Amino acid sequence: MTPTIVRNFFNKRATRMYPVETREMYSDVRGELYIDIKECNLCSLCARACPAQCITVDREKMTWECDPFECVYCGVCSDVCSRNCLNQHDKYRAPATEKFRMHEQGEIKKKPKKEAGKASPPPAS
Ligand code: SF4
Ligand code: SF4
Repeated sequence: MTPTIVRNFFNKRATRMYPVETREMYSDVRGELYIDIKECNLCSLCARACPAQCITVDREKMTWECDPFECVYCGVCSDVCSRNCLNQHDKYRAPATEKFRMHEQGEIKKKPKKEAGKASPPPAS
C-alpha cells in the first residue's frame, strides 16, 4: 500500500475540481433538456417514452413538467417529440443546492377547421 500512496503523490490527478474545473464537452453531447413550450401540443409522447419516468404532461391543466434530477440524459424524449420542440443543450446542467422541477404552462393547439361545404369523401367500399 505504501508504494501506491507514494506513487499517487507524484502522479497527475485522475479527477477534476468540478465545478471550478470543467471538462471540454464532446461534440453531440446530450446535455441539459430544454423545451420550446410555444411549439409543444402536450401530446405526451415524451412522457410515455421516458425510461426514467421524469416527464409529466397534464392535458387538463395544460402543463409540461420534468424532474431534471431524475433525468438520465438519454435523449429518447427529444427523439420522439412530434413537434421537434424538445431538445438538449450541448452542456450539462449546473450543480444545484436545492431540487426543482422544470414547469411549463402550455396550450393544446387546435386543428384548423375544415372549410364549410367541403366534407371529406366517404370511404371506398
Ligand atoms: S433525456 Fe431521457 S431520461 Fe431525460 S427526460 Fe428525456 S427521456 Fe427522460
Ligand atoms: S415536448 Fe414534444 S413530445 Fe412532449 S408533449 Fe410536447 S410536443 Fe409532445
